[in-house]
Amino acid sequence: RYCYVNGRFLPHRDGAVHIEDRGYQFADGVYEVVTIANGTMVDEDPHLDRLERSLKELRMRMPMARGAMKLKVRELVRRNGLKDGLVYMQVTRGVAPRNHAFPSDKVPPAIVMTTKKMDFAKMKKFTDGVTVVSAPDIRWGRCDIKTVSLLPNCLAKQAATEAGAYEAWLVDEKGNVTEGSSSNAWIITKDGVLVTKPATNEILNGITRQTILDLAKQDGVPFEEREFTLEEAYEAKEAFVSSATSFVTPVVKIDDHVIGNGHPGSLCEKLLGTYQDYAAGRRSR
Ligand code: PLP
Repeated sequence: RYCYVNGRFLPHRDGAVHIEDRGYQFADGVYEVVTIANGTMVDEDPHLDRLERSLKELRMRMPMARGAMKLKVRELVRRNGLKDGLVYMQVTRGVAPRNHAFPSDKVPPAIVMTTKKMDFAKMKKFTDGVTVVSAPDIRWGRCDIKTVSLLPNCLAKQAATEAGAYEAWLVDEKGNVTEGSSSNAWIITKDGVLVTKPATNEILNGITRQTILDLAKQDGVPFEEREFTLEEAYEAKEAFVSSATSFVTPVVKIDDHVIGNGHPGSLCEKLLGTYQDYAAGRRSR
């Protein structure tokens, strides 16, 4: 298995970055996780658009032109014989003697890419659903930037893991659910309306989230982008999480509250099927 590090394809075990990389010292970097289905990137341009945006918001530049970036990803996928899985891409502000202020513009950004094999066809979480626990959202004010600064997310996911749950739903001071530690949060009301928080600075606007909204619009599934409280989620008819790794993963329990009959609901199953068709290239958005 290969990785890509600053211009070179290397055996994965030899992939390393410098101790003065600003990603290592300050979490001064951004990343993307892209689904690979049948050997191709799902939502390739939307992911690269978001990468560019994250970099721009932090006054960093793309490590190479978009076309070159796509070729590197494809080459890594080919070398690794990856059919279904993920590509992880990370860009940091580069290597410079430790100093909080940015280094000179001459310091090139550092880039790393790795892949992971996944079997999206046979995922137990899709058929059985998952459980979620709530946790306070203690993150910063720019959750719309996909930074590698993920310590609060790690703490929340660890709390979920220790509680035997798949994901933590983060709750703000008003009692609203913002998103999951590494996914977007959705509920389905008794009337069959999809609800997810509007894409503000308080959440990462998931590419999967955007695709699901587009597909729902195409299929005439009613949806609302609005705030919802944890209390409303407890009473929801169905619930799910979305991300490049989770697709549409049904949620069957939130804290001590069973959702629906404790099994994935029919609209979740339908949305998952729709999304799987989309990921496999059987339909477009
Ligand atoms: N929200 C957070 C905090 C995330 O980390 C992620 C993905 O890692 C998402 C949402 C979902 O984003 P996407 O659908 O682009 O994978």
